[in-house]
Amino acid sequence: MEKRNEYDNAAEMFGENVFNDSVMQERLPKKVYQKLKEIIRGGKELDLATADVIAHEMKEWAIEKGATHYTHWFQPLTGVTAEKHDAFITAPMENGKVLMSFSGKELIKGEPDASSFPSGGLRATFEARGYTAWDCTSPAFVRQDAAGATLCIPTAFCSYTGEALDQKTPLLRSMEAVNEQTLRLIRLFGNQTSQKVTASVGPEQEYFIVDREKYLMRKDLIFTGRTLFGAMPPKGQEMEDHYFGTIRERIAAYMRDVNKELWKLGVSAKTQHNEVAPAQHELAPIYASANVAVDHNQLVMETLKKVAGRHGLQCLLHEKPFAGVNGSGKHNNWSLTTDDGINLLDPGVTPHENFQFLLVLTCILKAVDIYADLLRESAADVGNDHRLGANEAPPAIISVYLGEQLEDVLKQLIRTGEATHSITGSKLETGVKTLPDFMKDATDRNRTSPFAFTGNKFEFRMIGSQDSIAQANIVLNTIVAEAFAQACDVLEHSSDFELALHDLIKKNATEHRRIVFNGNGYSEEWVEEALRRGLPNITSMVDAIPSLNTEKAVRLFEKFGVFTRAELDSRVEIEYETYAKKINIEARSMIDIAGKQIIPAVIKYTTALAGSVNAVRSACAADVSVQEGLLMEVSALLAETKGALTKLQVLADQGSTMEVGREQAVFYRDAVLAAMHDLRSPVDRLEMMVDKEIWPMPSYGDLIFEV
Ligand code: ADP
Ligand code: MG
Repeated sequence: MEKRNEYDNAAEMFGENVFNDSVMQERLPKKVYQKLKEIIRGGKELDLATADVIAHEMKEWAIEKGATHYTHWFQPLTGVTAEKHDAFITAPMENGKVLMSFSGKELIKGEPDASSFPSGGLRATFEARGYTAWDCTSPAFVRQDAAGATLCIPTAFCSYTGEALDQKTPLLRSMEAVNEQTLRLIRLFGNQTSQKVTASVGPEQEYFIVDREKYLMRKDLIFTGRTLFGAMPPKGQEMEDHYFGTIRERIAAYMRDVNKELWKLGVSAKTQHNEVAPAQHELAPIYASANVAVDHNQLVMETLKKVAGRHGLQCLLHEKPFAGVNGSGKHNNWSLTTDDGINLLDPGVTPHENFQFLLVLTCILKAVDIYADLLRESAADVGNDHRLGANEAPPAIISVYLGEQLEDVLKQLIRTGEATHSITGSKLETGVKTLPDFMKDATDRNRTSPFAFTGNKFEFRMIGSQDSIAQANIVLNTIVAEAFAQACDVLEHSSDFELALHDLIKKNATEHRRIVFNGNGYSEEWVEEALRRGLPNITSMVDAIPSLNTEKAVRLFEKFGVFTRAELDSRVEIEYETYAKKINIEARSMIDIAGKQIIPAVIKYTTALAGSVNAVRSACAADVSVQEGLLMEVSALLAETKGALTKLQVLADQGSTMEVGREQAVFYRDAVLAAMHDLRSPVDRLEMMVDKEIWPMPSYGDLIFEV
């Protein structure tokens, strides 16, 4: 690799490792290029001859970038991406040499062993066949790292019988559904020019950075991604001095490298800043089509982790690495855009006159209200249970924040059936002559809302930081497709379009106004108010999972061909199993750490204390009541620790032998988690008493303040 100079040029390096449109245009024969564009647009099917030509060019290009291998890159239901590398070589020829080859068949189809990935009963272990299929709508890229360079081909992953075993397949299906129904809707408003509607997504990614050497001294972080023990440091985030604070040199150097890597991969990393908690940061790319955004978000997470290692750092993507300190999430900004540049969520200056917008908006309200449980489920993740409803992330109740302007329009609609005016933004008054005047937005923001309208997009704020954003977008696309379909069913058959439209907007607004909430989502009153309104408050992942395969959900997803009942059932099973397994790993890690590190350390300390009591006593008649008192206290906590450890051991053993499913997951949530808490409590108190030299691991303070 040529060495770049100190001042890299973002525009120059952007996408340099991506087989993107300009590369394809340059390298592919014109006819093949045009055909591929058609295929990407959804107008044509790929044939093998075309695939052969593309594969050949892709390989030549990748080899120029130093690639020796290729891989189908996919997203099974493990939560992370998967890949299997194959070298571009053919069988040795008679002269003992090999050729570099890559066929159309190898490009479009791979055959990983499906039985080794979660399938939730869709596949018996002996039925091993599964296929990965090239997704030409997300560009291939060359990844350069210690392994050399590898051509990565984004693919979908299905079973032998065609069931989706991944995130991408249903996501692509949902994008087709929302495309089709939105086109139907805008045709009603006379739009004959837009040919395609895309769900656009911009995910803001939060993460923690800690020192890698310290990380390696924490078995809990290594095994589970979060700390399972740890007393609060004297300082937390109460000074509010980290959010948007100056980025420290060491972190800045890291971010710079992350950006470079991402730009080369065509990921438009744009915004970075320090987050609320010490050692917490955020990265946001510029929005892209939902499919590309999902893939890019995986690349962002992968890159954040990989580059950290080079800087002697460790990136923590867990939703709650430190109890008592804000956790990390992911804000999923979502809108619908046409191929000719219209954003259907743009209200314009006078939303009250924009009937298409009002229909779109009230349909979304309806979708979110009816399918609130599904949306909540889409953000369910074991780690996220620590955040939702804990006053740092949205409550576990789905509601929509519209802001003053739109809420006012909605009120007018509900009250009189007609909206006659829109509140406008006024001038910002700072009281300083030399500061520029500008117009404020018509609406303030609300950071406590799970689903907030932010100008020309909705921001779904519930997703956990390490989760894929696919699920949330699958749900969003599908529920909005359904609301649009229902609206079109009414409007397409109306004799008086304007009247029917007017009635429908009013009906949607009136029937679903309960989902709108502009107040403080963190308050106790909201929990009570939401209960009165009949909104679901689903506080744990285990209770969210059943939403996936209710009759309502099956009907919805089957209608648009996004999921079959069998696929939904399988996902339910996988989620219960994942939940139990993850908590089990946490419990086992606690048992391991408490038994092998903490108890021995405390014993060492009590021995030293006892030694001190005896030594002082035999040397003089000084008062040893402090040492004795400490010894008593520490010994009592030690006994409590041992008792809690034994109890946790029994429960974890019991849980492990249970049959996989809801009952097991509930057991882990109710019994095992409680026992984990009981073990943590004496240990955290011990940490505050035992000699720091003896304590076997870095403290919270060491981890989050000394990066
Ligand atoms: P903020 O924190 O102020 O909400 P950020 O700049 O951190 O904003 O992130 C906003 C995200 O929303 C970015 O990824 C941005 O590209 C994305 N975004 C902006 N407009 C749209 C849109 N119309 N549709 C989807 N995403 C959008
Ligand atoms: Mg942001």
